[in-house]
Amino acid sequence: MTIGRKDAGYRPLNDRIHDYGEVEQTLDENDRMDQAARCMDCGVPFCHWGCPVGSKIPEWQDLVYKGNWKAAYEVLHSTNSFPEFTGHVCPAPCEKSCVLAIHNEAVTIRENEASTVEHAFNLGFIQPNIQEVRTGKKVAVVGSGPAGLSAADLLNQAGHEVTVFEKNSAIGGLLRFGIPDFKLSKTQIDRRLEIFLAEGIIFKPNVTVGVDISRDELLAQFDAVVLANGAEQARDLPVEGRDINGVYYAMEFLSQSNKRIAGEDIPEELGIHAKDKKVLVIGGGDTGSDCVGTSIRQKARSVTQIEILPKPASERADNNPWPYWPNTLRTSSSHLEGCERRWSLSTKRFIGENNQIKQVELVSVDWSKDEAGRWVMTEKSGSEEIIDVDLVLLSMGFTQPVHNGLLDALGIEYDGRGNVKVNAKKQTSNEKIFACGDVEAGATLVVRAIEAGKIAAINVDEFLCPE
Ligand SMILES: Cc1cc2nc3c(=O)[nH]c(=O)nc-3n(C[C@H](O)[C@H](O)[C@H](O)COP(=O)(O)OP(=O)(O)OC[C@H]3O[C@@H](n4cnc5c(N)ncnc54)[C@H](O)[C@@H]3O)c2cc1C
Ligand code: SF4
Repeated sequence: MTIGRKDAGYRPLNDRIHDYGEVEQTLDENDRMDQAARCMDCGVPFCHWGCPVGSKIPEWQDLVYKGNWKAAYEVLHSTNSFPEFTGHVCPAPCEKSCVLAIHNEAVTIRENEASTVEHAFNLGFIQPNIQEVRTGKKVAVVGSGPAGLSAADLLNQAGHEVTVFEKNSAIGGLLRFGIPDFKLSKTQIDRRLEIFLAEGIIFKPNVTVGVDISRDELLAQFDAVVLANGAEQARDLPVEGRDINGVYYAMEFLSQSNKRIAGEDIPEELGIHAKDKKVLVIGGGDTGSDCVGTSIRQKARSVTQIEILPKPASERADNNPWPYWPNTLRTSSSHLEGCERRWSLSTKRFIGENNQIKQVELVSVDWSKDEAGRWVMTEKSGSEEIIDVDLVLLSMGFTQPVHNGLLDALGIEYDGRGNVKVNAKKQTSNEKIFACGDVEAGATLVVRAIEAGKIAAINVDEFLCPE
């Protein structure tokens, strides 16, 4: 009751925009323990309900408050294989449903999480846990994002031989080649992978399942398969001029940037770079915000981010009460670094010169409900405008997993949205094949992917060793 919320805050703006180091700072140990002391140990902890991995938040807040970092980590890790990832990039729905947030500021649960796992690594509490008893069953995990890694960890701990296939050059999925280094340092992934290697998980990067290993080989060589290959089909904007040079999907830009930082050579002719350019980011979500921060670090001349939906309110609406996720305006560290944000704008066409993007025509839109209660968009006549641009990044989300190739070859069913159809056990229409993460849920969050990997692992284990 006597201690206020204290966020660690970001590194100073003029410092952080010149490098790709993590923007978030840390509190000293005493402040961190004080922050954990703010947890009220509620009889009904809504934070636990709000957290997709069901983190036992009040329990480990109490242990952090007492400085028992080992026990705090053990409780935290018992429901989440990767608190170091969520501690950095989770949007923390737990904090939105923290009981303190009804009348005060929520406990800094996400930062406390990052700090707990950092203490546990630094104090040597996180060591390989090598399973001596092995079941002799082999499991293939396709894709090494948070869903695949979560499933791989738990299946390996259950004694199965786990091989993780990854088509990219390094393990980590979107943690590695999507989320920028300034939000999540890749050392966070490497540190955990070292533990996994020591524990016996087999990693095979640069292997595209469905190309380098056929469907038949996969099903013959493994007793069960876990698909964790993400939702990589980006939403397109098929308006006039879409094919002009200089209009790219956000992921083309972001993955190149992360690869460059990791030391990979990007051929000059394939390079997408924001230096000295007027950048337009289309799409107001998190991926768009990552494009903003990356463009700023690449020394763009200007960065504008537009969104087709109206600007969200700054406070919760009456029909969006606590403890639900608040549909309010979110401002990231990247937005604070010098970007113009605009809402209710639709893109009509891309305009080029010598096949190079020069301008974009935009129009303001209104949103209203039709008789059936559906939202309908109408263009405001006379509001058309043309803005100068040198680089356009399409950040409008992802529609579904890529069907062509592995998924079609496996012959498994899709749901109405084109995702891999699974039952409550994350089992597909082929009983030997399970799926978890974005591939079955659609593009979502790291924390949800971790939870999906957990559910898949529990049910694969039961499938392989029933009783
Ligand atoms: C730019 C960006 C920023 C984001 N920021 C955040 C954030 O801050 N916080 C948050 O919670 N969420 C964020 N997300 C969402 C989050 O990253 C995803 O929801 C999460 O990574 C999904 O995990 P996954 O394991 O299902 O799939 P992915 O992480 O997409 O991993 C799938 C992996 O499968 C591999 N693969 C695909 N096909 C094959 C094949 N045939 N053979 C072998 N390998 C294959 C892919 O190369 C990829 O590595 C962000 C997403 C993006 C795009
Ligand atoms: S994983 Fe996310 S929702 Fe769960 S406790 Fe951590 S920050 Fe909160």
